[in-house]
Amino acid sequence: MCYYVTLISPQSYAMPAGALKVSNTMAQRCAICGKGPQYGHNVSHSKVRTKRRFMPNLHKARVTINGRSQTALVCTRCLRTQAKSA
Ligand SMILES: [Zn+2]
Repeated sequence: MCYYVTLISPQSYAMPAGALKVSNTMAQRCAICGKGPQYGHNVSHSKVRTKRRFMPNLHKARVTINGRSQTALVCTRCLRTQAKSA
């Protein structure tokens, strides 16, 4: 599978086949690596622990899969990976 990710300018991006997961829902999940929220605790000064979510740093990017272009949420790690490979 060959596809392209574009944030500002068109750049090619090669990833292993089957690595791309594109969904039509707006979940807080990267369309390329599938990274989603992670869970942990807020820890106050008195060490009281309350649940919290660590959200992935997602940005809308133009993703082209087999010539078909669409907007998808992509994490900054994947944007940086494709910027380095281009
Ligand atoms: Zn990602």
